[in-house]
Amino acid sequence: MNAAVKLHEVEIPIRALKTASLYEIRTDGFVGLVDSGMNDSTIESLASSGFDVSEVDLLMLTHLHVDHVGGSLAIQEKSGCKIAMGEQDYRILVGIAEDPEGFKKRYVKRAIENGFPPELEMSITKGLPFSSDARRFLDLKVDMLIKEDSSLSHGITYITVPGHSPGSIAFLIQSQGLLFAGDHLLERITPNIGVYEGGVDMLGEYLKSLEKVRNKNFKTCLPGHGHPFEGISGRIDEIERHHSSRLREIENACAEWSSAFSVASRITWNRGRQLSDMNEMEKNFAFGEALSHLIHLSRTGRVTMKSISGVLKYKREPA
Ligand SMILES: [Zn+2]
Ligand SMILES: [Zn+2]
Repeated sequence: MNAAVKLHEVEIPIRALKTASLYEIRTDGFVGLVDSGMNDSTIESLASSGFDVSEVDLLMLTHLHVDHVGGSLAIQEKSGCKIAMGEQDYRILVGIAEDPEGFKKRYVKRAIENGFPPELEMSITKGLPFSSDARRFLDLKVDMLIKEDSSLSHGITYITVPGHSPGSIAFLIQSQGLLFAGDHLLERITPNIGVYEGGVDMLGEYLKSLEKVRNKNFKTCLPGHGHPFEGISGRIDEIERHHSSRLREIENACAEWSSAFSVASRITWNRGRQLSDMNEMEKNFAFGEALSHLIHLSRTGRVTMKSISGVLKYKREPA
């Protein structure tokens, strides 16, 4: 029997995205939900489109970003549902929830080490996705911590797709060719690749995860923002081309020793925008994106990194 899948788009207060896409899955008396929106108001949004969350048996969280986990506490409280999410993302979330100030301090320190002007410190923290309410997440009860590809139940399986976050998970209904991709694969937006603690090459991980998904030949991608779409392999090609041209642009921006902030200020972002046109959260995303590309360039030997007067700088290797 095929599972019935229904898309629910809920509004979120992030300018560039506007909505998050949640998926109700029904099969054999089982009710699953993929992602939870940004806050408690998800419950009313879902109710207004005819879905009572008290029915949910299992909430599947694709990754730790607040526009995906933000409604999870309220949904679990109302339904008593089990929760499945990637182990690494859960550990990061708990780390932030246990010590939001420490997380903020480390974040600011890293930003300043990478050339973010110290006088913008306020704006760095304002743009932080978990600045408010982080402690609430200590109450979240996660029943299934996903470390490796495996199966859940009711025909649902999952694969790890690190990159957009360290513990990103895609949920699958293989018999129907459905890939619930979270933000790993979006149709109109290139998923943001940021930087996490531990110095991992997140862009390198992301590119590997794209190929992993391509090789599985799914028919339909059900993304974390926007509508389901087909042509997954073609979309992966586009995203890969985007990163290779951005890598080239960033490599070229390092003719002289440059910090990640300086690079982010000099390159042109999507739709011809400059760093100075962006709000605080967007600036942080752009900065993280520049840094993740620089880390990938340095791991693949295309730029050299060194600390100059306490700031990490990068320079292109001579061709
Ligand atoms: Zn995300
Ligand atoms: Zn998202």
